[in-house]
Amino acid sequence: MASIDPTKAREFAKEVVAKLRESGFQALWAGGCVRDQLLGCEPKDYDVATSATPTQIREVFGKRRTLAIGAAFGVITVIGPRVAGQVEVATFRRDATYSDGRHPDSVAFSNAAEDASRRDFTINGLFYDPLSNEVIDYVGGQDDLKKRLVRAIGDAEERLSEDKLRMLRAVRFATTLGFDVDPETMAAVQRHADELKVVSVERITAELRRLLQHPNRRRGVELLRRSGLLEQVLPALDREGEAWEQTLDTLEVQQELSFPVAAALLFRTLQFASASQAAAGELCRRWKLSNEEIEGVLLCLNQEMAIRNAPAIDWPQLQRVLIHPRVEELMSYCKAVCQVIDGSDAAIQFCRVILNRPRLEWNPAPLITGNDLARMGIPAGPAYRELLTAVRDAQLKGELPDQASALAFVQSQWKGGLSKS
Ligand code: ATP
Ligand code: MG
Repeated sequence: MASIDPTKAREFAKEVVAKLRESGFQALWAGGCVRDQLLGCEPKDYDVATSATPTQIREVFGKRRTLAIGAAFGVITVIGPRVAGQVEVATFRRDATYSDGRHPDSVAFSNAAEDASRRDFTINGLFYDPLSNEVIDYVGGQDDLKKRLVRAIGDAEERLSEDKLRMLRAVRFATTLGFDVDPETMAAVQRHADELKVVSVERITAELRRLLQHPNRRRGVELLRRSGLLEQVLPALDREGEAWEQTLDTLEVQQELSFPVAAALLFRTLQFASASQAAAGELCRRWKLSNEEIEGVLLCLNQEMAIRNAPAIDWPQLQRVLIHPRVEELMSYCKAVCQVIDGSDAAIQFCRVILNRPRLEWNPAPLITGNDLARMGIPAGPAYRELLTAVRDAQLKGELPDQASALAFVQSQWKGGLSKS
């Protein structure tokens, strides 16, 4: 996919509004893009809200330049020039009652003011007219942007209980924007936190990914705890005492952390709380993490001690950890742990020196393979693994200069009775 040019994306989003206006409809930028722009950051993408119905939107832009995947909810995607991306154009709407705690039972087309008031937070309920450069604010969003507050639109109690995902979104926006959650909104989250259960795991995990990847993740986790949501997402966790304080400290050692590393730092406390490695694996599955994410989390938790003890452990053992494709994640995880718990990153430096050396120096091609063992007449079986491991260990220790010495080494081991059973 071609990368998006922010200037072109903005121009195109303005053109979409202009075109709808020319056709006699109301049209405004809406939601996140207005918020981000007022905060002085580049919007990730642009959403347009309009009085045109989905059918009318498609008439204005033509079927070929639109996608109707979201048409049932009143959303049409308008496709722009390659570097400008797409703009989601949604008909002004009002949501009817919510009976499942997550989705409105029906939607009805409506006007701008009602469309603002069905949105979640005041800072997300703003409109902007890109032709006159005016903000249209039905919900007091500009005020809350100035006060740096995440506040539910309307009655917090009602708005958070009709769609329970909003509880987690409140904490996530407060984290990523560096805002506070308005006290009334926070109190409503606290009262309803245990209802987060009705939200699908995928949606919950999507929010946690964004929260934990953000440099403000420590504050995010503290807000999760204060809101009562942490208990819902990490029930087994011990949320008090020294280990917990250390966990919080490790979360802020580094700005940039991948999601698996941040999750591993969080799960790390579990191993002390319940003394169980299995607990983390179970949480990964409960959060429905991808296989790659699970691999990253478990690598960190399982190999932490290898890195922290790097200067003291056997080189072949350490070498096998350092060649792992995700070793950089393990390193950043251990950097946080070492700094907070060991008070030194000497072990990290030790590994870094090795990783910085030319790779073939510390990860040379193996001297022999299973084929060589077969040629020597050794019957296939578990002995292969043991022999190859022994040869590799000796090679890494510098005891075997070449293939001939490796073959001789095998002869002696095999004759010596290794695994002849
Ligand atoms: P970002 O994309 O940076 O997370 P955003 O504000 O664009 O922020 P989206 O999830 O893309 O957030 O949603 C777009 C807009 O739709 C929001 O700004 C908000 O007005 C509205 N919205 C999204 N989810 C909800 C919800 N669960 N309840 C009410 N309104 C919502
Ligand atoms: Mg968005």
